[in-house]
Amino acid sequence: MTDHSAPDGGTEAPTVSCSRCGREWDLDREVSEVPPGGHAIEQFALDHERHTGHYPDDVRPWTVRCRRCPDGERFLAEGPARRWAETHARHTRHTVDVEAPTGDDVVVTADDE
Ligand SMILES: [Zn+2]
Ligand SMILES: [Zn+2]
Repeated sequence: MTDHSAPDGGTEAPTVSCSRCGREWDLDREVSEVPPGGHAIEQFALDHERHTGHYPDDVRPWTVRCRRCPDGERFLAEGPARRWAETHARHTRHTVDVEAPTGDDVVVTADDE
């Protein structure tokens, strides 16, 4: 239940580890173009998932899945995940499940407005 376990280093360079790969990456070197604040981790995580089929250790994606059609997407933040679900529900009147990384699932329907 603890999402925010900040390491006590205090350095700005985000480090990502993956126990499945048994590797660790210093994102300051891997992604130099991305400003600090989590975007580097998101970019890396999406990239890692694309290559290996799984996410690094500290990354828990939001999974958005439509109940009525094969449409679905994965996001690394709640905002875009909810937006995708609400947009899809509104346009198609489908019911969309938003699976939160913490386990609190959200159901988005078209009657929201
Ligand atoms: Zn991995
Ligand atoms: Zn749908």
